[in-house]
Amino acid sequence: MLVSTVELFLRARRGGKLGIDGTDSLRFNWRAVIARKDEIVAQWSKSKNNTPAQLGVPALMGRGEFVGAHEIAVNGGNYSADKFVIATGSTPARPPIPGAQFGITSDELIHLPEQPQQLVVIGGGFIGLEFGFALAWAGTQVTILQSGPEIAPALDDEIRQVLIEAAKQAGIVIKTNVKVKTIGADRKVETEIAARTETFSADQVLLATGRPSNVAPLHPQAAAIELDHGAVKVNDYLQSTSAPHIYAVGDAAGKRQHSPVAWYEGPIAAQNALRGNSQKIDFSVFPSAIFTIPAIGQVGLTEKEALARGLKAKVSKLPYEYNPAAGVRDETEGMVKVVYEEGSEKILGVHVIGAHAEDIVQIAAMAIKGGLKKTEVGAMHYVFPTFGGAIFDTMAS
Ligand SMILES: Cc1cc2nc3c(=O)[nH]c(=O)nc-3n(C[C@H](O)[C@H](O)[C@H](O)COP(=O)(O)OP(=O)(O)OC[C@H]3O[C@@H](n4cnc5c(N)ncnc54)[C@H](O)[C@@H]3O)c2cc1C
Repeated sequence: MLVSTVELFLRARRGGKLGIDGTDSLRFNWRAVIARKDEIVAQWSKSKNNTPAQLGVPALMGRGEFVGAHEIAVNGGNYSADKFVIATGSTPARPPIPGAQFGITSDELIHLPEQPQQLVVIGGGFIGLEFGFALAWAGTQVTILQSGPEIAPALDDEIRQVLIEAAKQAGIVIKTNVKVKTIGADRKVETEIAARTETFSADQVLLATGRPSNVAPLHPQAAAIELDHGAVKVNDYLQSTSAPHIYAVGDAAGKRQHSPVAWYEGPIAAQNALRGNSQKIDFSVFPSAIFTIPAIGQVGLTEKEALARGLKAKVSKLPYEYNPAAGVRDETEGMVKVVYEEGSEKILGVHVIGAHAEDIVQIAAMAIKGGLKKTEVGAMHYVFPTFGGAIFDTMAS
């Protein structure tokens, strides 16, 4: 919500170039944006809270914890069941950095009454990057400190380069190979970079160093639930590997922290728990997005991954500048990159950075799922001018 509002703000400001007057005087009203977000979240939560009752399912509001293999305690009462599905999500990590208590998590940032003037983000993964871009374009001075050699390590290398250029445009400073030594009460962040001490000033420090699964507070040991990096260790049926009457989904099962994963896994786990294991999870085609500005969408293998697997990987690329829809909207920053197998023309991966990347990549996911060859997609009819057209043009080239 924050990102889409900032995108609108940015596009409106850039409207001056398209012939719209008065765009210089636009201001980002942080308080109003946060208030609208709170309102929408409250509305959605209210409607969700009513759903179990509408379905005739009793719901208890409270923190549950296992007190036995088949028993949980909630609000002072004990309840037993034959089967359980754990869907307790994840919580932001507070890294073991001296002074981490002076930092804030993403959960806290979206409740700040004032927009930070200077924000230091510790962590260059998807959450750090999304907040970094949103706040930078909303007017905050942003510095991202990443411990490893590169931000968003799972990205295709060329897509990352475009992202780094976009970060420069947004005024974001990115530092890599950073060891954060301390966070002061005054929000000064002391670091070591290439054996030199560097200090960064901020009025808020965002801790974006991952979201461990929220399973430990459930006392999983009371039900002999085996964990893997803090998440419930499950098989392809989403069933605990150590306690067969227990299933886990979404962030509690660990591997892919995305909302649609939780929505997809929930019904599968419930079916398997109630009717016996019949449905396995399938993530063979798994599109995902990072809502930076511009956004990134990806599905399948990166060029590097394909080559590492010994595949004869070839690449087709098309900069957004060649997309007429991007041109008329003045959103020409970005590229589409298709990785395919030479000879068979099998699509191995598609990587997009640019406006609407999150939607464009879904077209690619459908094509991969349907077993379409690159040349077949490239020969298809499509609606013109559209951002989605870029995927067909890239496959045609
Ligand atoms: C800042 C941020 C941005 C994100 N952006 C995206 C995005 O753009 N796209 C995307 O797909 N995903 C995104 N995600 C990830 C997505 O939110 C999660 O993957 C998804 O919410 C996981 O769903 P879940 O049902 O597993 O857990 P949750 O949605 O976290 O739900 C878990 C629920 O369990 C409750 N609970 C926890 N412990 C107990 C207990 N002991 N007893 C009873 N109840 C308990 C919690 O209160 C909570 O209501 C984002 C996450 C963050 C933090």
